[in-house]
Amino acid sequence: MSKILIIAEHDGSTLNPSVAKVVACAANIDAAEIDVMVLASDAGAVAQEAAKIDSVSRVISVERSENSHPIAAVLAPQIVAAASGYSHVFGPSTTFGKDLMPHIAALLGVNQVSDIMSVENSHTFKRPVYAGSGLLNVEAPADSIVVATVRIASFASAGSSNSAPIESADNSIEVPVHTRFVELTSGKSDRPDLQTSAKVVSGGRGLASEENFELIYKLADKLGAAVGASRAAVDAGYVPNEMQVGQTGKIIAPDLYIAVGISGAIQHLTGIKDAGTIVAINKDEEAPIFEVADIGLVADLFSAVPELTDTLD
Ligand SMILES: Cc1cc2nc3c(=O)[nH]c(=O)nc-3n(C[C@H](O)[C@H](O)[C@H](O)COP(=O)(O)OP(=O)(O)OC[C@H]3O[C@@H](n4cnc5c(N)ncnc54)[C@H](O)[C@@H]3O)c2cc1C
Repeated sequence: MSKILIIAEHDGSTLNPSVAKVVACAANIDAAEIDVMVLASDAGAVAQEAAKIDSVSRVISVERSENSHPIAAVLAPQIVAAASGYSHVFGPSTTFGKDLMPHIAALLGVNQVSDIMSVENSHTFKRPVYAGSGLLNVEAPADSIVVATVRIASFASAGSSNSAPIESADNSIEVPVHTRFVELTSGKSDRPDLQTSAKVVSGGRGLASEENFELIYKLADKLGAAVGASRAAVDAGYVPNEMQVGQTGKIIAPDLYIAVGISGAIQHLTGIKDAGTIVAINKDEEAPIFEVADIGLVADLFSAVPELTDTLD
């Protein structure tokens, strides 16, 4: 029988919504027993949230002061120490999981399966290649542990009516000190999280400056949306890198995606292919974004966006 260990992403007090999606993926593996591991300095509230996720058999909390920040080099050996007896170790294909899971795979001496989109059987998974232009079935060896990241945009969240038991793991192994948390310099924002928000407004090179990006923030705030950007907007310095949507940025699946001044390059579209309704505002009626948009507005963004924002008053 498959026994799956899922590593919980969290910020120390709240469980990241990606966890319920990874559980939904794991639940597609027949007869799976699913444990969620919360590594934290104080796992209490996060473990309580994880215990509510349907299909979770057990929550294992690993509390130690070194776990107060998610440093992959510190977390990975603790996870590996607890991984014996498991057939799979899963994490989300978010920045957290993309950082952590390869450390785990390397320590266990296996290749990682990346970006699971669907489960064919316990060791065969579908994943995207070439910016989502192709889909591949990859088969992991049956005789070794499977370490994988799950493409969270491909799974609906598991329900939250469970009350799984929470156990503390005694994990006193030595962890590396060569890598440690110094400070977090990323911008703190009160806006919804880009990777899990139901609504996202993104801006591209068409905005033409950091100052003009204010138009995107205003529209997003009226809608209660997260803010994203194309790589061109990031490269031009209009917004920080963590806002990039696409192949080399964040893969997202909001119910509503509004692309402003974005042409719709394949590398951008791969990040939004699971979005519900796509709205595009672009002055070029030939822009490829209109081929995937459900609603398209051919207009100058500098008049269309303020007008749209005002109508939301
Ligand atoms: C390996 C690789 C990985 C990549 N990864 C990513 C990725 O993760 N994410 C990503 O986004 N890109 C990625 N790219 C880059 C991608 O190919 C495009 O270059 C990028 O998406 C273009 O961004 P853009 O649409 O903002 O800019 P442009 O292609 O320059 O488009 C700007 C658009 O704005 C419109 N516009 C201009 N002025 C106005 C106005 N006043 N009103 C309305 N519309 C206006 C124009 O008509 C145009 O369509 C990657 C490329 C490579 C090679």
